[in-house]
Amino acid sequence: MSTAAVRQMSQGGDPAATCSVDHQVQHESGQRQAFCGLAGIVWLHRKIQDSFFLVVGSRTCAHLLQSAAGVMIFAEPRFATAVLQDRDLAGLADCNDELDRVVNELLERRPDIGTLFLVASCPSEVIKLDLHKAAERLAAAHAGKKRIIAYSGSGLDTTFTQGEDTCLSALVPELPANDGERALLVAGTLADVVEDQLSRLFERLGISPVYFLPPRRAAALPPVGPGTKVLAAQPFLGETITALTERGAELLSGLYPLGIEGTRAWLGAAADAWRISQQTVDEVCAAPIARAERGLARYKEQLQGKRISFLPDSMLEIPIGRFLQRECGMDLVEVGVPYVDRRMLSAELELMPPRLRLTEGQDLDRQLDRLRADRPDITVCGLGLANPLEAEGLTTKWSIELVFTPIHGFDQAADLAELFARPLNRRQRLAF
Ligand code: SF4
Repeated sequence: MSTAAVRQMSQGGDPAATCSVDHQVQHESGQRQAFCGLAGIVWLHRKIQDSFFLVVGSRTCAHLLQSAAGVMIFAEPRFATAVLQDRDLAGLADCNDELDRVVNELLERRPDIGTLFLVASCPSEVIKLDLHKAAERLAAAHAGKKRIIAYSGSGLDTTFTQGEDTCLSALVPELPANDGERALLVAGTLADVVEDQLSRLFERLGISPVYFLPPRRAAALPPVGPGTKVLAAQPFLGETITALTERGAELLSGLYPLGIEGTRAWLGAAADAWRISQQTVDEVCAAPIARAERGLARYKEQLQGKRISFLPDSMLEIPIGRFLQRECGMDLVEVGVPYVDRRMLSAELELMPPRLRLTEGQDLDRQLDRLRADRPDITVCGLGLANPLEAEGLTTKWSIELVFTPIHGFDQAADLAELFARPLNRRQRLAF
């Protein structure tokens, strides 16, 4: 298997027969190409500074992580793979003993680890190694000293960004109780610089206390309970939001803080919950919006009228498509999404152009046929597809960059537009 985990979700039959149109969403099933949820470790380990991610998997999983994160240069990386050997596959009892040994050695050698995540993979799931039970057993052995939590990043269950959802939802039962204090909880990994910018805006609006999930240190988990209002910063956190609402929190629905319009609406949703006037929100946002508009102007010129297609990968396709269409003047040719979570995306879907080709799921061959017929100016896709498409003369943007780059908030609106302008400029320069 290559670093891009390729999964055959279903095969056979007439693909057209499996498509149905649900409002404006066309459903597809077939072969798909996307990273698995292990990819989330790359940004989660950077964010949660006292965590360690131990993948229980194969050499393929180890290869994926090392390629995606380039960890070889670090003396003390904060993730690793416990590689299942042939004899582990033969007997689960040995496998559990071996896992206990590896975990005990790791925790002894690395006292800085506050929370250890045991991450399930395809091989551990296929042999039915129960990492939740293993985590309970190990957590009891290290009670009071370490937190040990299991979640799945397996390609059998998760796509790309869903690894963050399974990780954060596994953290929710560990959160301390909020017994009624009105508090804002921002759910979804944000770069520290973005978190600081948004914290300052909340402070100016008079919204406090504000917590972030994941926190920078797992030892400082945010409280959750009936007083908690949740603002989702990422659209792929459906399970996490369910777990938070089951603990009494309330989701504030709206746009995602991508681009000027999205960030203004996102802050506005929090302001509404705190009964802060729209005039105050406008005053607080005026300077950052003016700055963002100035930064965006030159990219808008380059992107205006350019045609873009998204292949389903990161789950950010709809909010970023909204930004590129409404704020940069791009034409959306096709927006493919791994799955449409209507609870998380309802406000974004309302802003999609009415005749947009919006697809959910993937039938790779059919999608590539459409792409070759459309020949958009730029295609957003996974790493595994980018090089072959570039060889066919199509300009591409790796979707994984959208989760590695700080793109949320007013001050990052220009950077987000630049991510799409850059490959177009490069292609133009190569043409001369
Ligand atoms: Fe491949 Fe599965 Fe490991 Fe992901 S979890 S790298 S899809 S084997």
